[in-house]
Amino acid sequence: MSKNSFTHIVIGLGGLGSAAAYWLSRQAGNEVLGLEQFELGHVRGESQDHSRIIRLTYHNEQYVRFAQASYRTWAEMEDDAGEQVVVKTGELNFWPEKTTLVEDDYNNSMAACGVPFERLDAVEMAKRFPQFRFPDDIHGIYQPDGGLVGAIKANDAHRRMARRNGATLLDNMPVTSIRQVNGGYRVVAGGREFEGEKLVIAAGPWTNEALKHFGFQLPLQVTHEQVSYFSSPHLDEFRPDRFPVWIWMILDNFYGFPVYGAEGVKVAKDRFAPVDPNNRSFEPDARNEKEVSDFVANHIPRAHGPVLYTKTCLLTHTPDVDFVLDKVPGHPGVVCAVGATHAFKFASIIGRTLSDLVLKGKTEHDISLFRFDRPGLQPDGKGFAIHGFGDHPAEG
Ligand SMILES: Cc1cc2nc3c(=O)[nH]c(=O)nc-3n(C[C@H](O)[C@H](O)[C@H](O)COP(=O)(O)OP(=O)(O)OC[C@H]3O[C@@H](n4cnc5c(N)ncnc54)[C@H](O)[C@@H]3O)c2cc1C
Repeated sequence: MSKNSFTHIVIGLGGLGSAAAYWLSRQAGNEVLGLEQFELGHVRGESQDHSRIIRLTYHNEQYVRFAQASYRTWAEMEDDAGEQVVVKTGELNFWPEKTTLVEDDYNNSMAACGVPFERLDAVEMAKRFPQFRFPDDIHGIYQPDGGLVGAIKANDAHRRMARRNGATLLDNMPVTSIRQVNGGYRVVAGGREFEGEKLVIAAGPWTNEALKHFGFQLPLQVTHEQVSYFSSPHLDEFRPDRFPVWIWMILDNFYGFPVYGAEGVKVAKDRFAPVDPNNRSFEPDARNEKEVSDFVANHIPRAHGPVLYTKTCLLTHTPDVDFVLDKVPGHPGVVCAVGATHAFKFASIIGRTLSDLVLKGKTEHDISLFRFDRPGLQPDGKGFAIHGFGDHPAEG
């Protein structure tokens, strides 16, 4: 008879939940159950594309240090997996003269955390990265550790290793009920009942559907985003050893990647189009695709060519763009993570932290920004104004 009782149950096996299941399984082995409402590796959520940017360029020290820790946990995970998921390409951030972002916040935070970076003027940028064409009033900040995480690869590896460690991961098992029983929780999923002492909620765009079982809701908004892959006869100039990840440093920004996973240069621009995750289109938005195509034609001309494909996905926003990573109030045995638009690079350290919170009740990392009870998440907080709502850009 199959096992129905586990010490730990992870709800949601996207980027963050798969990482949590892996880190939990390193200590708790077959006492870990992961439940995913769709098939493993589905494309309806936030985490399933070839690449996500990883970077140390953040606007405050807490994020920079958390990103440094994430590089370390990715490396530990890569050792265990015997495969590389982080590819350092260098990161080039373009600072136009007009932006609401504060460059000093980024540079000072990196300096305080010992992160090396260089300021490049237009001439130096053109010399080092001739693939880009920009006017002279733009300068760049180059950070050599930036790069990409192979997201699909990382998700697969996390789940594969969790299973290798004894975890049970079940797909097509939507969690429809969670009740507190005997000091633990009874979870109904896909017509089966499971018992767990501790729960991890990593439900991405469906977080509030999961939290409603605890009488709790967060001020989240879900948006429909997309990325486009451009084919070009010059793809060799855009391989990871020659072309960095890059971000245009304004809100609703453009950002892009070298050729990785698909034979195309990947470029995107935030849309911030609110959507119901249960009733959304998978059709790309033609206007966004054209804006991105025009940007590539003007600024990365040799990458420009026909769109190979445009892939849509969802993004979950908190009002202050900071993650949620905490115990659910009133439920010390339940932890929850929300990626707040920029978490894939942190999937490893978030997975590790969720595991530590569940196993030890604490973490060595400063996660005070990500608390449930911070002002930005309270009903009387500043509220939601998607598009221009935070002081740092989302990549997605
Ligand atoms: C276009 C785009 C570009 C991005 N670029 C970057 C980037 O460059 N760098 C970066 O760091 N981040 C980036 N992000 C953000 C990052 O991808 C997300 O923050 C991260 O993937 C969130 O992962 P998640 O596990 O929370 O969500 P998801 O991957 O959506 O996983 C949640 C999972 O929970 C499952 N689930 C939900 N409810 C239930 C239930 N009741 N029962 C069972 N299962 C359930 C869902 O089916 C889903 O599989 C980008 C996002 C997008 C969309």
